[in-house]
Amino acid sequence: MTDDTSDTNETSETNGADRTTDPQPRVPDQGRDEQPAVFVPDDGTYDDTTGGDTGDASDAARPATDGGTESDSWPLGDHGPLSPDDDPLPDGSEVAADGAADPLDPGEYDPVDVFPGGDLDLREGADSCYKCTSCDTSCPVAEVDDDFPGPKFQGPEQWRLKRKEDADIDDSITGCSNCMRCDDACPSGVPLSQMHNEARGEYVTEQMDKLSREYVRNRILSNYRLFAEAASKVPRLANAVTSLPGVGWLGEKVLGVAGERDFPEFATQTFREWWQERGGAKVSNSDKRIAYFHGCYSNYNTPEVGKAVVRVFESFGYEVMVPPQKCSGTPMFANGMLSDARRHAETNVRELTDAIADGADVIASCTSCSLSLRQEYPELFDIEGIDDLAAHTYETLEYLRIHEDLDGAVADSETDTGELAYHAPCHARNQGLARQAVETFRELDGVSVTDVGDSCSGISGTYGWKAEKYEYSMEIGAEMFEEMEEAPAETGMTECPTCASQMEHGTGYEIRHPVEVLEEALVG
Ligand code: SF4
Ligand code: SF4
Repeated sequence: MTDDTSDTNETSETNGADRTTDPQPRVPDQGRDEQPAVFVPDDGTYDDTTGGDTGDASDAARPATDGGTESDSWPLGDHGPLSPDDDPLPDGSEVAADGAADPLDPGEYDPVDVFPGGDLDLREGADSCYKCTSCDTSCPVAEVDDDFPGPKFQGPEQWRLKRKEDADIDDSITGCSNCMRCDDACPSGVPLSQMHNEARGEYVTEQMDKLSREYVRNRILSNYRLFAEAASKVPRLANAVTSLPGVGWLGEKVLGVAGERDFPEFATQTFREWWQERGGAKVSNSDKRIAYFHGCYSNYNTPEVGKAVVRVFESFGYEVMVPPQKCSGTPMFANGMLSDARRHAETNVRELTDAIADGADVIASCTSCSLSLRQEYPELFDIEGIDDLAAHTYETLEYLRIHEDLDGAVADSETDTGELAYHAPCHARNQGLARQAVETFRELDGVSVTDVGDSCSGISGTYGWKAEKYEYSMEIGAEMFEEMEEAPAETGMTECPTCASQMEHGTGYEIRHPVEVLEEALVG
């Protein structure tokens, strides 16, 4: 088990410096890949013994803001999804700005409270940008969408504009898919994704028309858990309805959801139903406990992933807990629905910190969920226990590689899995976990893994589900599809369920999660 981390009250100066030297502040070095992932700065400062730029790294967190408020009931609002009263931020909140001050002059400096109700100051991050454009060249959206100005504009430049002129947030912020690849690309530690999340939250709150089709569509996509929960009550009927001819066409015409996509299939028994029927944990061990954060997909769509997590951890003698939980918030962050994300985060932080108090570490099988719990939560919210949760959160393979002799266990095992084409999700890459599956299965008899490269899958959660983004999404994913088809495999593998859906959509391959392969090898 890890030790608790520092408190929540670090200064912005401290945090800005950490961001410069440690672009992934919450990921323990032990769990990272042996080889650095892509986006190593080419300025000679990269030190592959630390996994990042050289410098005085510190483990302190970046500052949190707390601009969201509780949505007190139905996630789409008491008055239905179209109500303008459903503004997710406090009444009377204002965007502070001081057009008279020079943002680059420390003597004229006032905190820039761009997000209403918050206390975040990202000026230091904006000032750290020296316009090298590394982030722009790493951005998969900017590469295919000529109207998207790229991460440098969305981050530092929007903030400078805002500070100087009290300008509106440019609506191009909604074009960012929140893949977070730009974070890794910046050699100066500019907290780009945090800036994007803040700007997007403000844009949606202050400027977006709550009656627009785009707002309603995005709110529905963000709250997938709500619809999945309802569908899982009648999974066969839901699957039959969503596969009817014309439903995709209707979804595109009415809501702007890409008609080319197949709706995810709902399991006839959710993971939590299986867990309950099973009678919970089969292993009791107060010295080795994990709390499983299954997220929405593993519960409603791919419960076999959750079952594999339970069986693998029990094979290593862990007592598995499955606390109550809500969506990690990943799709909400990507769509600027920060109040929804906060409401879910409050439940997750409360329940998971209770499990931590009982001696558990938190394990997520989805790399976007682990990233959300340990990076986006403390960056965006100030909830009691949030840093404790961030410090105790891991991805599945990552945890086993740190705490168990996973390589040894795998080397003594075999499977008949065969050839796999592996895609590392952008959010795994962001946590330094892009190579973990390839390295883990290197010594496993009966399986051969081909890494299909460092391109983005293009789906980015909800991005590729938007009708106007579908072609871009497929264009971004084209390199991955091609690499998969060239690999000596007809089955894919990835840790992210939405990347899996894109891989399947683009190639027709069956897609597996690494923990399922691990289960076959270690449990049988
Ligand atoms: S998060 Fe991804 S899509 Fe958004 S600006 Fe950064 S690289 Fe581009
Ligand atoms: S944000 Fe970072 S990567 Fe982007 S231009 Fe500025 S210094 Fe370069």
